[in-house]
Amino acid sequence: MFKEILGHERERAALRALAASGRVPPAMIFYGQEGTGKRLAAMEFAAGLNCTGEPADEGGLFGAAEPAPREPGRACGKCPSCLQLGKNIHPDCRLVDAAWQAHLLGEDEEKQRSVKIDTVRELSRSAYSSPILSPWKIFVINDASSMTVEAQNAILKMLEEPPPDTAFILIASNRASLLPTILSRCHTVNFRGLARREVAEVLGREGLELAEADNLAGLSFGSVKRALDLRAVLEKLSDLNHLDPMAPFRVADKLGRELATARETARLILNILVTRSAARWRTAEGPEKASMTRLLDGLFELKRCLGRNASPSITVETAVMECARAGISLRNLERADA
Ligand SMILES: [Zn+2]
Repeated sequence: MFKEILGHERERAALRALAASGRVPPAMIFYGQEGTGKRLAAMEFAAGLNCTGEPADEGGLFGAAEPAPREPGRACGKCPSCLQLGKNIHPDCRLVDAAWQAHLLGEDEEKQRSVKIDTVRELSRSAYSSPILSPWKIFVINDASSMTVEAQNAILKMLEEPPPDTAFILIASNRASLLPTILSRCHTVNFRGLARREVAEVLGREGLELAEADNLAGLSFGSVKRALDLRAVLEKLSDLNHLDPMAPFRVADKLGRELATARETARLILNILVTRSAARWRTAEGPEKASMTRLLDGLFELKRCLGRNASPSITVETAVMECARAGISLRNLERADA
């Protein structure tokens, strides 16, 4: 049932031990960059915590099968709790994400930018009522870094008087946006980036060809989300003729109209160019080494400018033009980090 999770063996073993001990902190933060499997690990933990190991009664002639022996804290994938969690319909374990909030508040999913106070109020109602199916109530708040201050204060109130047999898991890629008073009450589990082969394997399961999956993984800094974002950007740029002298301007035209999207796309393009330039720098010698060093310095400066609200299109035009002079383009992914 949870076979799609890869990596983080040590963290997941520690979480299984925590589930088996039954001494679960009322609040935890699963912290690390996006796209590394934190949400899946949280759902795996919730399943292991509530698993009974007794297969659901399918009404057969001989009744329910005997429970199979299992490692404490590890989900069996077959009991009613595991089955309901796998379908995200467990009455005591809730994944709070954009889809759930949109459904709760009767709004569009695409418009959910933050976890709102009304959502946390609803969680509070559930948290202080009795569980329905399982011993533990678990609330996994996806993208908790986006909680409004009001929502965080409402969570904090609950953490000051933790509801019994309840655990909150905050999934966060940015700790700085969480109130220090929340951080100090949470047990933190750190998730590092995935290994290149792990990212490639997840991409392979998504249906990508082996070579493309491996190349994107090499550019992903251990994040499946970043790899998929890069793929979307490269697809957008796939019809460009990179020999065209106007190519830098055409790249800039494809950044998207919305400023936040344009900035994120520009950041991804700069990352691709930095990775390719760094690969060239590693093998360069003599005067080429010096010119690649200057190029990399320039690219890092452009990244800093982008971070300080420089225009995404001007930043990208400059970067693509400078790289083109050194023979580095956005094409030929297969040479990305050779
Ligand atoms: Zn189970």
